[in-house]
Amino acid sequence: MDRFVYLDNSATTKISKAVFEAMVPYLTEHYGNPSSIYRIGREAHMAIDEAREKVAKALNAKPQEIFFTGCGTESDNWAIKGAAHRLAKKGKKHIITSVFEHHAVLHTCRSLEKEGFEITYLPVDSLGYVNPVDVKEAIREDTALVTIMYANNEIGTIQPIEEIGKICREKKVLFHTDAVQAVGNVRIDVTAQNIDMLSLSGHKINAPKGVGALYIRQGVVIDNFMDGGAQENNRRAGTENLASIVGLGVAMEEAHNGLEEKAEKLSALRDKLIDNLLQIPHTRLNGGRENRLCTNVNISFEGIEGEGLLLLLDLNGIAASSGSACTSGSLDPSHVLLAIGLDHGIAHGSLRLSLGKYNTEEDIDYALQVIPQVVQRLREMSPVWQEMKEQGLV
Ligand code: PLP
Repeated sequence: MDRFVYLDNSATTKISKAVFEAMVPYLTEHYGNPSSIYRIGREAHMAIDEAREKVAKALNAKPQEIFFTGCGTESDNWAIKGAAHRLAKKGKKHIITSVFEHHAVLHTCRSLEKEGFEITYLPVDSLGYVNPVDVKEAIREDTALVTIMYANNEIGTIQPIEEIGKICREKKVLFHTDAVQAVGNVRIDVTAQNIDMLSLSGHKINAPKGVGALYIRQGVVIDNFMDGGAQENNRRAGTENLASIVGLGVAMEEAHNGLEEKAEKLSALRDKLIDNLLQIPHTRLNGGRENRLCTNVNISFEGIEGEGLLLLLDLNGIAASSGSACTSGSLDPSHVLLAIGLDHGIAHGSLRLSLGKYNTEEDIDYALQVIPQVVQRLREMSPVWQEMKEQGLV
């Protein structure tokens, strides 16, 4: 196979050259422990502070509001459990979230339920948006936290974060957003948007895996997640992942500087994919077209299984993902697709193509050449499709 087209950038991304080059010295020469007082330790400490400034700038936050973590999942766990445990001491044991959050948030909420917290799971509409009015109505006297994702990882819908932030600030309730998929694709301003805590992850924005960050607004106090040393201003223990933090800083700077240009290019590629794939009969786009990540295409094809689609695409050199079964280790289709009202059958036949800054028009043309053929081939072999034919449905 000589052709390889990577269309799974929401799963992870390739490290950028500038990120890699910035990291190398911190793996080779400047390998000191940032807590050590001699020269290479101080250099390491300074490199972390510089990365902190870059991350803060990209979010319009203050450097002291940025805390480095091990991944987006850790940031979500820390924000939600830390706020829950801290505010439970004041009798606030209610949390509001949505049904279609990433498992890093949903499973954290489930675990808090087992500890006696009450969670409200807000619905989303058929296009994949949370209604801010629902947030407002769900807030109670004992609400500790609202946690709503910035953009959905499967269907790419961007949530009304500013409106939700305003409601939470007015009601004096903490607001956390999982922005793992939004960072680098959407202009974020934590100050203007009244965000109290925001999670992000390095490997989604061309930095390495195993590094993330949590923004915590100055003045917001949450419990620590791990016990140990005094790193990260006494709030996140553990020797810092120095080289990766340096990489994350550079990736945030690159993402911040090139955002509008990237969004314009990728929106055009995304629209080309969507418009052409919808020409295939009996397909539907999942998630609204307005307020959608420039990187996300999610299409369901009636009569076929996502796994078959992924395997045949892989044979043709295309890496993508689907919202069904084996990829998630479960037989149920994606909770996100079910949340927007898809029935099990059509949810199983879904395909997520997620674009990144290295994708080209040629990649898209190739995908548009391969996908219709693969769908046709799978439909010809599909008993479900044959049955639909016999019933005159297709
Ligand atoms: N939140 C969202 C919306 C995600 O898409 C992901 C990863 O796919 C995560 C959290 C978890 O991030 P990480 O892989 O860095 O733990």
